[in-house]
Amino acid sequence: MNPRMRLQPEAIGVGMTSQRVRDRLIERLRDTGIRDERVLNAIRTVPRHLFVDEALATRAYEDTALPIGHGQTISQPWVVARMTEALFEDGRVPARVLEVGTGSGYQATVLAALGVEVHTVERIGDLLRVARKRFRSLGLNVRSKHDDGRIGWPENGPYDGILVTAGAPALVEALTAQLAVGGTLVAPVGAASAQQLVMLRKDADGAIERSELGPVVFVPLLSGMVG
Ligand code: SAH
Repeated sequence: MNPRMRLQPEAIGVGMTSQRVRDRLIERLRDTGIRDERVLNAIRTVPRHLFVDEALATRAYEDTALPIGHGQTISQPWVVARMTEALFEDGRVPARVLEVGTGSGYQATVLAALGVEVHTVERIGDLLRVARKRFRSLGLNVRSKHDDGRIGWPENGPYDGILVTAGAPALVEALTAQLAVGGTLVAPVGAASAQQLVMLRKDADGAIERSELGPVVFVPLLSGMVG
């Protein structure tokens, strides 16, 4: 666990956000195929109820996506777990990861809790400002940028992992180009209503291997920025 992450006792909460409720989510993730103990532990540790509106806090440990405003959602915990797990498969330990679509900041925080250096890009300024406050109050050093993430963040790359947390009809080439040798990219690809979670691996010889992790539903990857 990242020692820089300060989890205050009051962040642990009571009632519907209690440790018992969180442990139940971890059991559900285990039952639905999440195997990596490091990932399960990170999800157990990160207080997801701090990444949604107070009014939704009681639902924060359900395995569902929840609204975060501006028509966007915090991803379902299973999806966060599966995407994160993909980066750690076969003995990989990603040092540096790019996330496209900061949203609430939850996925970025789960990565940071695993000791990853996180770079995250969000096109909606209002969401990014709130996410940055959360990173600060948790004592996390997550690098973030207000931009159209379809161009990635080439200055800081290449990345051992790239997670695209919004759906697009096809993989974005600019992002694949920022993947390090041995790295893993995970992105939802398909129609607006439903996508397939696609995983790309870049081999030592530069060859790209593609596989599919299952059906998912993400909000769309859009172009441009909004305040
Ligand atoms: N990873 C987030 C959930 C993401 S929801 C979390 O853990 O909460 C998808 C996010 O992607 C939204 O916040 C949306 O504004 C953002 N997004 C969509 N298109 C984008 C783009 N081109 N660049 C950056 N962010 C984008």
